[in-house]
Amino acid sequence: MTTPSYEELKTWDHMHVWHPFTQMQEWLSEDPIMIARGEGNYLIDIHGNRYLDGVSSLWCNVHGHTHKDLNSHISDQLDRIAHSTMLGLANIPATTLAKKLVDLASDNLTRIFYSDAGSTATEIALKLSYQYWQLKNSPQKVKFVSLVGGYHGDTLGAVGVGYSELFHHYYQPLLPDTFRLSPPHIFRFYQGMTEGDAVFAATNEAQVLLSQHHREIAALIIEPLMQGAAGMWTHPISYLQALRDLTKQHDILLICDEVATGFGRTGKMFACSHADVQPDVMCVGKGLTGGYLPLAVTFTSEEIFSAFLAPHHEFKTFFHGHTYTGNPLACAAALANLEIFEEDQVLGQIAPRIAQLKERLQTDFTGLVHVADVRQCGLMVGIELMRNTKPKTSYKPEDRIGLKVATEARKEGVMIRPLGDVIVLMPPLSISSDEMTLLLDVTHHSIQKVTCQAS
Ligand code: PMP
Repeated sequence: MTTPSYEELKTWDHMHVWHPFTQMQEWLSEDPIMIARGEGNYLIDIHGNRYLDGVSSLWCNVHGHTHKDLNSHISDQLDRIAHSTMLGLANIPATTLAKKLVDLASDNLTRIFYSDAGSTATEIALKLSYQYWQLKNSPQKVKFVSLVGGYHGDTLGAVGVGYSELFHHYYQPLLPDTFRLSPPHIFRFYQGMTEGDAVFAATNEAQVLLSQHHREIAALIIEPLMQGAAGMWTHPISYLQALRDLTKQHDILLICDEVATGFGRTGKMFACSHADVQPDVMCVGKGLTGGYLPLAVTFTSEEIFSAFLAPHHEFKTFFHGHTYTGNPLACAAALANLEIFEEDQVLGQIAPRIAQLKERLQTDFTGLVHVADVRQCGLMVGIELMRNTKPKTSYKPEDRIGLKVATEARKEGVMIRPLGDVIVLMPPLSISSDEMTLLLDVTHHSIQKVTCQAS
């Protein structure tokens, strides 16, 4: 098959493709970067330009692109079968992967339900939790609690528990009434407070809400330790632990959405393990296949699973499933991903990279004039830019500061993608020390250049 020319591809893209989270009017006025290949931690475009993948291709890639073990596992599976349904059938990779994932997760999570995206994993978590209480004769438990700034995907259920004025305001009338809690995110909500005082205040708020409304609440959903799409908002381990205690105390299920934080991104396999927290439901996606193929999993406890067991005619079945549920090819990629974690002792290898990142962020970034806050959890970083840091004054949306920094970095061979004025860094776990230095040097230089020009 001959590859079309760049000009042809650009024309077809501009004529036919609608890109996600993209103002297409802006997109259509630009020349798109057309990715042709990947190699280790680099993306390579159709002209041969190389870009360090500084956000892991939207927080997905784990061990680098075109990894030989991942490639060979997938191609071995391809020689066997690419897809068979899980409705009425099992398949070898999906069954094997279930066993391996359950062994990795906290002890109480013994069952997994497959789907194909982070959004579907959270949608399943919400539906399962909702139905669980109906089946347990508590039909009044129909509401969810989530965090201000929470993001759990783009399907309607997930949007219902998410909270983003920008992403969600058109859909408000379609969404269920959800209780919100302010997380202990000091930069926005608890300015001037110590971390301990912020956690105390946020936990108090949760305590009041849950004790007043527990009879109507099915579950509380949270992105543990790092609220990614909000703009990389970190919260302390003790807050997660407090929410676990409160939800237990008030008979509310705890759903941990580890779609972004899972598979080593925070320094441990799952963010919950930093806090020794056992959620009732846990969602993973993105890095599950090493960032290769769409696959997601919703874990649940045996307690939840067993509530759905009954003779068929009682119709307690979980009536949910997607066409590609448990796709063998994607499950083979996930098995290879887990094997690499084990064989290369990846979680041990990334500790020095996390320390390197922390050191550079503290020494070089926190003092920059327009850097208002630097937040890090493992290999997840948000650098928040502001026109003035004292008093805090944001840039105007039309200044497009975050985008300009990312564009500048691209010119120097680093691919990053901001969230508004928050510069996000989330390199693959396989990033080398030199590549980390490059990522930080280029980001630093790009921030300085763009913010100097803007002031
Ligand atoms: N939950 C979290 C925490 C996420 O960060 C995301 C995606 N960024 C999702 C859910 C949705 O995942 P997907 O885009 O695969 O549907």
